[in-house]
Amino acid sequence: MWDAIVIGAGPAGSVTARELARNGCRVLLVDKASFPRSKVCGCCLNGAAIRTLRRLGLEEVLEDAVPLSQVTIGAKSRKASLNLPAGVAISRELLDLRLVEAAVSAGVEFRPDTTVNRDSLLLKHAPVVILASGLTGGDAVPEPTSRIGAGVLLKADAVPGFYSPGTIYMATGRSGYVGLVRVEDGRLDIAAAFDASFVKSVGGLGRAAVAILAEVGWPIPHGLADLAWKGTPALTRRSLRLAERGLFVVGDAAGYVEPFTGEGMAWAVMSAEALAPIALRAVREWDDRLIHEWEQTHAGVVGRRQRVCRIVSRVLRSPRLTSLTVRSLRLFPILSRPVVAMLNRPSPQGSSV
Ligand SMILES: Cc1cc2nc3c(=O)[nH]c(=O)nc-3n(C[C@H](O)[C@H](O)[C@H](O)COP(=O)(O)OP(=O)(O)OC[C@H]3O[C@@H](n4cnc5c(N)ncnc54)[C@H](O)[C@@H]3O)c2cc1C
Repeated sequence: MWDAIVIGAGPAGSVTARELARNGCRVLLVDKASFPRSKVCGCCLNGAAIRTLRRLGLEEVLEDAVPLSQVTIGAKSRKASLNLPAGVAISRELLDLRLVEAAVSAGVEFRPDTTVNRDSLLLKHAPVVILASGLTGGDAVPEPTSRIGAGVLLKADAVPGFYSPGTIYMATGRSGYVGLVRVEDGRLDIAAAFDASFVKSVGGLGRAAVAILAEVGWPIPHGLADLAWKGTPALTRRSLRLAERGLFVVGDAAGYVEPFTGEGMAWAVMSAEALAPIALRAVREWDDRLIHEWEQTHAGVVGRRQRVCRIVSRVLRSPRLTSLTVRSLRLFPILSRPVVAMLNRPSPQGSSV
């Protein structure tokens, strides 16, 4: 019935589905949620993500996004502000809805409110399945010490004036960090990564965020602890298999690293762009060598970037190292340049299907 079924309509799934449809495939895109839907995310797209979307002709999905010019990092009572060469903030309700709409405009059939698992009978109706179902999809195994994610959106009229649009605020603490950024409608997106034991000891995700903001001395929005926080499973995870006969795994489902550097959506769209030509060949005729090709391509597109994020997340585990880094960045902002440049570097893919 279809040439490909894509499970999950986040950035990885929608972009892959659209690319396949643009190349003449009949594609079914399914998601268990109804759209627009929110998602725990820092909502910041870096230069690499923006360039990939532009290259794919998707720049209009970023209309209304808030341009980002700075990141302010707090550790204990210290803070350092760094300039960002590129970046925008946009809510996941808006971004993901627009990406789905772009896929539908390219001919993709979209079915929201549809949960599909790997053994669903529906999958018998296509020779190729793309698993893009995020952290809970795939067979990626969480690392035992991994932090968990948490997030909430605060109404525009409740945001303290301290948090200006165009700046990402990252409060780091002993047991996690909290990122805050204003999105297109003035709301404050708050996304965090915490040690699970810390959340348990303070009595909830909201209280954990309050504790970390208090550690750096930044304003705590009224009632923050009591908002409807959403949590995620363990964040840092590695995938055992990125492909098998008739199936490819992409985006967070293919493995993820803690979100401090705000790279997840760049990995999702860059790897979706890279997967499309391989999946297209699989639709035409399956060849077992495509499994290895996807593993190699995926490593080339996101492998090095994920290694940088692993190093950053290790530094963040040590309060002394974090504080020292923030002090050094404050004195010598130039020190951040290699990491910032690396994270904003475009993907090696560089071209569409
Ligand atoms: C705290 C936190 C902060 C972050 N901050 C940033 C940031 O600032 N910048 C950035 O670039 N990245 C950030 N990320 C990472 C980013 O959110 C993800 O990397 C990105 O969303 C991955 O896209 P995806 O398409 O792979 O998965 P997702 O966006 O998670 O989409 C997966 C989709 O699959 C659907 N689904 C799941 N299971 C099924 C099923 N069985 N059947 C049908 N549908 C299913 C879900 O409903 C969902 O819509 C952050 C993540 C966290 C946790």
